[in-house]
Amino acid sequence: MDEKKISIAIDGPGGAGKSTLAKKLAERLGCVYVDTGAIYRTVGLYVRRREVSPSDAEAVERLLPSLDISLAYVDGKQRMYANGEDVTDFLRTPEMSMYASAVSALPCVRAFLLESQRSLARRYSVIMDGRDIGTVVLPDADVKIFLTADERERARRRWLELREKGGEDTFEQVLADLKKRDAADSSRAVAPLAAAEDAVTLDTTELDLDESLEAMLAIIDGKLNK
Ligand code: C5P
Repeated sequence: MDEKKISIAIDGPGGAGKSTLAKKLAERLGCVYVDTGAIYRTVGLYVRRREVSPSDAEAVERLLPSLDISLAYVDGKQRMYANGEDVTDFLRTPEMSMYASAVSALPCVRAFLLESQRSLARRYSVIMDGRDIGTVVLPDADVKIFLTADERERARRRWLELREKGGEDTFEQVLADLKKRDAADSSRAVAPLAAAEDAVTLDTTELDLDESLEAMLAIIDGKLNK
């Protein structure tokens, strides 16, 4: 008999700590962590490499059938593949953030990726993070958390993360990019960034990582053991 799969949806703006926290939660709870931002970034990278404008819906739609995206877990980490090539290490750059945000506003791209995200949740117990997981991808998720934090704090976290990887953007640049991306993600017509009606919102501005993790575990525990 199939074991009941648990699904936990975590949405929120950039830099709120979604991926770091979701990864830790997945380890604690024995779920598969699905970083859906990486999937959109893979589409963004492909579009960039093929020199197509990420806002040209028709050109992007023509390109999609030639892109086979897959994902695998290597040493517990999610790796992304575009037509068999491991592209994971190219995805977390400011440029790919913008490409991902632009292609993710296209209905053809969202439709192209929807079913594969849902099928992961049918096969495994998942913690999935993104922008529309609780609203569109997994509307019946067992737990929905909308993670947020003050804009400057989110930019500060993103800036530190980029600096650690050798990025040279200034704090002001990172803040400006983050604002631009949040505005685009929140105002797009399809699947905009939004908290689901039944999501619990957690503001992590004043919380460190451990405190955020504990707060999320308490929310999850409260929902699963109702
Ligand atoms: O989470 P991450 O910063 O990697 O996401 C990159 C971009 O992909 C976001 O700015 C957003 O535009 C898009 N995205 C989305 N829906 C998701 C996940 C990411 O539109 N579920």
